[in-house]
Amino acid sequence: MTFVQTPLFSDAYERSSRQLPVLGEQRDIAYVGTRAKNVLNDPQVTKMGFWSINPYIGCAFGCTYCYARYTHRYVMERSVTADVLTEDVRQSAAAMPPWLAFERRIFVKQNAAEVLARTLRHGSDKHLRLIQGETILIGTATDPYQPAERRYRVTRGILEVLAEHPGMDIVIISKSPLVTRDVDVLRRIARHSSLSVHLSLITLDRALARRIEPRAPTPEARLRALARLRESGIDAGINCMPVLPGITDDPRGLEALVKRASELGATFVSVSSLRLRKTAQQRYFPFIEREFPHLAAHYRKAYATTWHLSDRYRASLGTFFDKLCRKYGVEGGMGRSDAEEEGEAERETRLPAQLGLWGE
Ligand code: SF4
Repeated sequence: MTFVQTPLFSDAYERSSRQLPVLGEQRDIAYVGTRAKNVLNDPQVTKMGFWSINPYIGCAFGCTYCYARYTHRYVMERSVTADVLTEDVRQSAAAMPPWLAFERRIFVKQNAAEVLARTLRHGSDKHLRLIQGETILIGTATDPYQPAERRYRVTRGILEVLAEHPGMDIVIISKSPLVTRDVDVLRRIARHSSLSVHLSLITLDRALARRIEPRAPTPEARLRALARLRESGIDAGINCMPVLPGITDDPRGLEALVKRASELGATFVSVSSLRLRKTAQQRYFPFIEREFPHLAAHYRKAYATTWHLSDRYRASLGTFFDKLCRKYGVEGGMGRSDAEEEGEAERETRLPAQLGLWGE
């Protein structure tokens, strides 16, 4: 991959020291440098049951179902209001819908490591909470090993800081084999902390994956990464999330995925079904209409008044996965969010035969 250093870098600072520099451009993607005030998101603020870190804002992998697109819109709006974008970035982002800006205008938190080091100084309130068992997830809203990481190494810097703090509980979520570049620091962390790498993979079918996740690494590349991590003694498994109804919920396909993960030593396979908030629908529905037109009406109906699938579908999926995981001897279960939402939903014992249940 070639990153072109743009001449805007120096010009921008001459025009205004407040403006965020364009660090580089690659094809149609611009990388904008930013300095974060805080990188460790508090569970009380996010309303999630864990701390989170996202080294980048926006994600170049551009998965059609991505639920995180709405976060980018707020950042763009705040940046425009604060007048910190260069004219080129502002105009080009304004010319594209927010869901596309999420993929094409990536903010790089250049100072993330130093901010985190300050936040985690020994004896600080956050440090104490984290060494008492609270979990940090890296990559909840954007992929920490997206292409930008190859050059900017923000995620690696964060991991270097975490390696200095024993007693943590850390989870990394990614679709990229680039995570294996950092095996050395991952092993250092794992010596003194609990560490787990969750590789996201929804299908083994390369051509299908390319349609759904156009710029993400191939399934084979992710599986090779899984094998490499396990060979290196790192706890790692698969997040089969989200299962797309009518597209990737074919029982044979799911079984092949769990079997392959188990053969490569995955310590777990987690699953959850597709959630679609409004901003995600703006990207996903046109994709369905173009690529899977026979499913369009089913999707419109299923998500007309809610952003997740029926309790019945989710419970059936969970039960099916439990059986698969038992069969192949791997830990498994519903992903965190689906398990939390599932509540008292009655668990079905039979498999949802693709379109059979999901519109109900
Ligand atoms: S890798 Fe994750 S954050 Fe990036 S586009 Fe895909 S779903 Fe969204």
